[in-house]
Amino acid sequence: MGRLVRDVLVDAPTVSPKARGEDIYEMFSEDNDLLVIAVVEDRKPVGLLNRDQFFLRMADRHGRALFSKRPITFLMNKEPLVVEAGTPVEQLNQLIVRDRPSALMEGFIAARRGEYVGVGTSFELFAAMARDAEERSHKLASLAEQLGRARIEALAASKAKSDFLATMSHEIRTPLNGVLGIAQLLMATGLDEEQSEFVRVINDSGQILLRLLNDILDLSKIEAGKLELDVQPLEIRQLANDTQTLWQGRAVQKQIAFEIDVQGENGRTFSADPVRLKQVLFNLVGNAIKFTEQGSVDVHLALHDIGRKRSVLRAEVRDTGCGIPEDAQKNLFNAFSQADAETTRKHGGSGLGLAICKRLVDLMGGTIGFRSTEREGSTFWFEVPLKVDAVDLAPSQPQIDQTISETPKATDEIRILVAEDNPVNQAVAKGFLKLKGLAADFVENGREAVEACKAGDYDLVLMDMEMPVMDGLEATREIRSLEGSVASVQILALTAHALSGAAERCQAAGMDGHVAKPINKDALFNAIDDALERRAEARRNAA
Ligand code: ADP
Repeated sequence: MGRLVRDVLVDAPTVSPKARGEDIYEMFSEDNDLLVIAVVEDRKPVGLLNRDQFFLRMADRHGRALFSKRPITFLMNKEPLVVEAGTPVEQLNQLIVRDRPSALMEGFIAARRGEYVGVGTSFELFAAMARDAEERSHKLASLAEQLGRARIEALAASKAKSDFLATMSHEIRTPLNGVLGIAQLLMATGLDEEQSEFVRVINDSGQILLRLLNDILDLSKIEAGKLELDVQPLEIRQLANDTQTLWQGRAVQKQIAFEIDVQGENGRTFSADPVRLKQVLFNLVGNAIKFTEQGSVDVHLALHDIGRKRSVLRAEVRDTGCGIPEDAQKNLFNAFSQADAETTRKHGGSGLGLAICKRLVDLMGGTIGFRSTEREGSTFWFEVPLKVDAVDLAPSQPQIDQTISETPKATDEIRILVAEDNPVNQAVAKGFLKLKGLAADFVENGREAVEACKAGDYDLVLMDMEMPVMDGLEATREIRSLEGSVASVQILALTAHALSGAAERCQAAGMDGHVAKPINKDALFNAIDDALERRAEARRNAA
């Protein structure tokens, strides 16, 4: 964009230096719009005549008598502003304003390599500038409109992606629930060694699929800005213990030393999102163990105070593993980035873990990084700010010990209803309950569940969330509004929703807990035990 001087020249005749005053007088008089005339000799500009100045001189006393017959060289400006025709208008304007304000009144000559090209006036210059500005603002306006449209399209695309992932997640989780559930049930049926191995492979592959599904969902949730941190009290010792519990076995299997130490915690509790913090730490520890064949993995958690109420947790995971080649280091936090195809083949993984860690740490307002030397090892670290909770001097709530709490024995007296429309999931639930010595009635939608609850005195309902006719949330709300003790039946949701706050929605509808699909045997059994315990207590209190 931007016009050049040659684009803004005016249509004007030229004259030779021999022309006389009266010739020029005639030319200006005949054409009121003629403002400037260039004087040119052998194609070279030698002077400039400006209409107003010319008439002023002629109007002087004796002006006409003096100049009419004389060559125009007596009247012309012999040193007019001459510019190259290819100069941008904007530049010429600056030059005039800065160095040659006289040219504002007088006009200028455009030349190419010293030869005359044309004349111009400042009026034309400013008009051109105004046109440029107008065009520019038009372009800006249309660019802004395009950007607006692109933004709307991008938002729609991103929403479509999230919706697609939520749907796919549900669609993939349902059959995966079947595969993993049945694999767990099969394992409990007394298989020979070879069969056990086959089932183990089915189970492992299913778990990998599940992890991939969760990772992709997490990433898309974070990118869509839909992931919100759930800040809760957090004990760093507990975080260390959980890490130890989860990874110790794997480290022992690989015969590598595995140690965790905590510094600066001083018995205080902090506030942060424990689930997401664990997710980051577990990912780094998991990688360290995965990529270390001998030596050790050390986890170091340290709290540094940055005020009375705020602290920074620095977590470092050091390993003596294969390390990361320098050329692979810079993209490591990008999604699907893996240092080396060979190790990936050997160890599995999708290259999403670190991308998710980075985004989670960013979300927590922290930083993450690493240093690594190939064949020597790596240290991954992250730092996140934590709120220091007020010190609670009251003795902490005793932890309920699962092993000594009185779990009701599985007897025929316990009545369970399963509301689930999918036959595979029904079979899985039935199998799990049977493993626990429990039996259940089955219905296929929320409406039937409400009717069954009215008719029978159930202790527990396992409620699928998405069912035809009436979904699980609606059914729960209806059950809660029934008359009498049937309204207080324990209801556990079976959720396949990983994308949007499923847990909160279950709770808001009046459910007592939820178990994520694909169902994990231990998680289901624990949730059932807790629910039956609550039910028994409610009955004791009522009695
Ligand atoms: P994944 O482990 O699923 O492939 P990540 O995003 O967690 O995905 O890691 C990306 C890559 O970074 C890994 O494939 C590996 O090449 C490299 N990497 C991560 N952690 C380590 C580590 N502790 N030692 C060596 N390489 C690592």
